[in-house]
Amino acid sequence: MSKRQLAMVMDLNKCIGCQTCTVACKTQWTNRNGREYMYWNNVETYPGTGYPKKWMDLGGGFDAAGDLQEGIIPNIEADYGVPWDYSYDSLATFDYTAGNEKAGLRPTSEPTWGPNWDEDEGTGNFPSDNYFFYIPRICNHCTNPGCLSACPRDAIFKRDQDGVVLVDLDRCQGYRYCIAGCPYKKIYFNPKISKSEKCILCFPRIEQGLPPACAQQCVGRIRFVGFLDDEESQVHKLVHKYKVALPLRSDYGTQPNVYYVPPTEAPAKFDAEGKVIEGSQRVPTEELEALFGKDVHTAIKILKDEKEKRAKTGESELMDLLIAYHHSDMFRLDNNYYQEFAKESGKSLLAPIDERYSSGKNTKEITHFKVHA
Ligand code: SF4
Ligand code: SF4
Repeated sequence: MSKRQLAMVMDLNKCIGCQTCTVACKTQWTNRNGREYMYWNNVETYPGTGYPKKWMDLGGGFDAAGDLQEGIIPNIEADYGVPWDYSYDSLATFDYTAGNEKAGLRPTSEPTWGPNWDEDEGTGNFPSDNYFFYIPRICNHCTNPGCLSACPRDAIFKRDQDGVVLVDLDRCQGYRYCIAGCPYKKIYFNPKISKSEKCILCFPRIEQGLPPACAQQCVGRIRFVGFLDDEESQVHKLVHKYKVALPLRSDYGTQPNVYYVPPTEAPAKFDAEGKVIEGSQRVPTEELEALFGKDVHTAIKILKDEKEKRAKTGESELMDLLIAYHHSDMFRLDNNYYQEFAKESGKSLLAPIDERYSSGKNTKEITHFKVHA
């Protein structure tokens, strides 16, 4: 367990599935060098197949006795999908006359599977009881990481200063036990360098007091970032004070540090005549319980009560938090905290506080880690 723990809260009532977070992450970290198929941040439609395919059935994590469970390593081609490109070069010479449609902008290989293949499909019968919602997913920077426990090389470490979980790429030998051990399948194999790689919680940004790119760019303003022990932080208030933000599949035993405000705002169901069934629940609470545990019932009640209170009295700190007026409130990151570590060790204030990730031969050329004089 680390001395302090950074956490992220995501309000699922506000996610619009725009994938801006996904693109922010991909362009920053995973658009080349064997990482093309990886989505350190992905947003999947629930119910749905997920990414990688059926990740919830692939094992890993811990049983009730604390023993690491066996897991399956997904197949890159079949379970994640190989990214395809488009024939942009052909556009310059494309003949736009009728009957020639097939020659235009085409995938360069036949797409067979990919993230969000079943986006927005959901389940149920339209319009009476169909539903879906989005679940954005990053590495949970778990307190008890399955990936770390599974690694025989001690290549995965959890930073003491903030609980960020990273891979020391020089130690990693590409055995992939970590991928089997992570029940969220949020660590990926890079076939180009034969190493495992994962979300780094944008630690070079965090150390400068900036939120991760996915959170900064989020169009729905669904993401809050801060230290769990900081009582003034909105993550602390949503997780500990109001208890409306819950971890995903905490039954996996890894103690995740990404929390979700469950979706409560779906419309009621319709009967055969198209009339509203008062009091009906379009998103089944059993499904939410399976995802977020039994505490989801209390969380939903608190959310509904506070919404009602706000409507009646105009007052509710919780509703104000969830409206997310200001980035400065949503992201409570303390760069002075990190600078103290830098000063203690006599390092530049711009240098990463822990060099195990950034000094490896596979990462030191990344410009984000270069300290300019
Ligand atoms: S989500 Fe998976 S990869 Fe991330 S810390 Fe937890 S076990 Fe490791
Ligand atoms: S940017 Fe925000 S609203 Fe858009 S998909 Fe990502 S988490 Fe959801």
